[in-house]
Amino acid sequence: MNPLVITIDGPAAAGKGTIARNVAHLFDFIVLDTGLLYRLVGLNCHRAGINPHDLDTCTRRAEELAKTLMTNPRVLDDPDLRGREAGIYASVYSAIPGVRNAMTKYQRDFAEHPPLMPDGSHPTGAILDGRDCGTVICPDASLKFYVTAHVEERAHRRHRDLVARGDDVTYNDVLQDLMQRDHRDMTRAVAPTMPADDAIIIDTTGRSVEDIMDDVAGVVQDRLHLGLDQPQGEITKRNTEGAP
Ligand code: C5P
Repeated sequence: MNPLVITIDGPAAAGKGTIARNVAHLFDFIVLDTGLLYRLVGLNCHRAGINPHDLDTCTRRAEELAKTLMTNPRVLDDPDLRGREAGIYASVYSAIPGVRNAMTKYQRDFAEHPPLMPDGSHPTGAILDGRDCGTVICPDASLKFYVTAHVEERAHRRHRDLVARGDDVTYNDVLQDLMQRDHRDMTRAVAPTMPADDAIIIDTTGRSVEDIMDDVAGVVQDRLHLGLDQPQGEITKRNTEGAP
């Protein structure tokens, strides 16, 4: 039987990661944050001084990094990948078609053969969080979400996260970064950020995580016919309504 695949796409800091982690926790899925793949390429190419207009060299470097990833996925644990610089360069180098091709196989393998959970058990399936997971990487995914929020709110969230990890950055810097990244990611010729035709759109602006998760968990249960693995809070209440 094919593993279940959930895709969660949308712009930066819209809440994709939070939703992915919560769904994974509730229903025993394993998550791939695909942004980390492009952050790895972006930071690596930038540090090596590779000009983003030199498409062949960028593509070759991405292919080498894809090979490294296959043997050692822990390269994605590098804390530098979560910084501001990595986000900016990810958005620059991810527009290169050869870079995207190089990262496709790793993502599809993850979806088709999800790795074991940290406790050694088999996951219910895979969640891929990114920009083109529902449109390009896994067009046949079992369930697709597209998560969005107003850019100012996204900038506040991302600014808070970056400051918490010790980055010296202002709210305005982050807002400018996100607006430039949105523009680049949504207007690029290959795999732009956009909802799949069959994606469920979730606008997280002004909503609490509990409220959003109440909706999302309900959809996952109804559409994938899954029981909650880890019932909690409001979700538990909803889940047991009408139960004897
Ligand atoms: O999601 P995150 O902010 O980590 O993504 C960093 C950048 O990587 C995005 O701005 C985008 O350019 C690129 N990306 C992409 N496709 C994905 C995930 C991320 O192009 N599936």
